[in-house]
Amino acid sequence: MPQLIAGNWKMHMLRAEAVALAQALRAGAAGGAAELLVCPPFTALPAVAEALAGSGIAVGGQDCHQDAQGAHTGDISAPMLRDAGARWVILGHSERRQNHGETSELVREKTLAAVTAGLIPIVCVGETADQRGGGSETEAVGWQLSGSLPQGFADGPGGVLAYEPVWAIGTGKTPTEDEVADMHAFIRAELVRQFGDAGAAVRILYGGSVKPANARALLALPEVGGALVGGASLAATDFLAIAGAAAGG
Ligand code: PEP
Repeated sequence: MPQLIAGNWKMHMLRAEAVALAQALRAGAAGGAAELLVCPPFTALPAVAEALAGSGIAVGGQDCHQDAQGAHTGDISAPMLRDAGARWVILGHSERRQNHGETSELVREKTLAAVTAGLIPIVCVGETADQRGGGSETEAVGWQLSGSLPQGFADGPGGVLAYEPVWAIGTGKTPTEDEVADMHAFIRAELVRQFGDAGAAVRILYGGSVKPANARALLALPEVGGALVGGASLAATDFLAIAGAAAGG
């Protein structure tokens, strides 16, 4: 399976900027080995999906509600994301867990809603600086893994897992290569424990301050199936350079 390079545009990009970035990615991405995905803000999603139609670059949302519809002011459902052109959705990002109090139980419900709507979920887990400093990083990630993934997560096209240490997001800091490899090995073992053979095929992305300068080393580590990229996904040249460091299937 090719490595997946996913861009999380967060709360950046008005529609015109988003379309310009999508067009630059479309122009520069041809023939690469990696599978590419961009996750624009909701408001730009339909325009980006249209700009990338037929390009092979997929489009995803950054969150969805756990219900398919209802009285939930300001929320977006998984079927709405599909309707807007998304085929993927990021769930349980640490900024949602921290800023919106999302629990693993809620992330599991959202993940189920995404799968039911035909979206491929990218479920994020990762320890805080305190947990890493206190030596409880695998315990913290283990709790998130057992709480956030519904039955059937690994079936069909299969969900994707993203290991994103909270302290590495947007900080320019990254774990050592050994720390990334150890955590990805731990996550793989947990996925196999939860989902059997299907867990062995789930892609595990690394996320947290991935840039062109460190992408090749991070993407070459065992059990790293791609990258979830925040800041560096906002510049086409950086995102394409990271994609160029990825391996094919
Ligand atoms: C992210 O928020 O998913 C992320 C990885 O951000 P950054 O690459 O900016 O650290």
